[in-house]
Amino acid sequence: MRVDLRPLRAERGGTLVIDCHETVESRVEGIPFVEPVTGRLTLHNLGAALRIEGSVRTAARLVCDRCASPYRYRLHAAVDEELNWADVASPDAGDVTYLVGAGDAVGLDVGVLAREVLVLALPMVARCGPDCRGLCDGCGADLRIEPCRCPPEARRAREVDPRLRALAAWREAEPSGPA
Ligand SMILES: [Zn+2]
Ligand SMILES: [Zn+2]
Repeated sequence: MRVDLRPLRAERGGTLVIDCHETVESRVEGIPFVEPVTGRLTLHNLGAALRIEGSVRTAARLVCDRCASPYRYRLHAAVDEELNWADVASPDAGDVTYLVGAGDAVGLDVGVLAREVLVLALPMVARCGPDCRGLCDGCGADLRIEPCRCPPEARRAREVDPRLRALAAWREAEPSGPA
């Protein structure tokens, strides 16, 4: 959705409320937004500056880093931007991606702004749930829903090994010397 900023710009102290309900592509490979973006933005003409505040939400489909299951993740992002009108009107305002047009015909692309803040709100680590135990390295079982099928010896060895390895590494890193 594109919003013409001209009427707001002409009204110092003016406010414009935008209710969004729009399908937006995340453009992040493998992480689609699976719901329309909804939310409300309030634009204020502060005289020299344009303030944009509010929040937007959608849902994304993530893939768990641990067990590789897809799951739905609720995304919510706050918007709080302030731009100088002089920059808004300049055709080479450059890094502000959500402005369209130039000069007097400048507008706000709500979808682009929403995409920007929502992509930034994506989690760094994708975990389908707090109790996700992931896939067994040995047999590949999804440990959330099925038991490990590894032979007991292999399972015991794996449970012990990492700790022993960590301990051995720690001993090596700790130089010997007088206590
Ligand atoms: Zn998982
Ligand atoms: Zn296993």
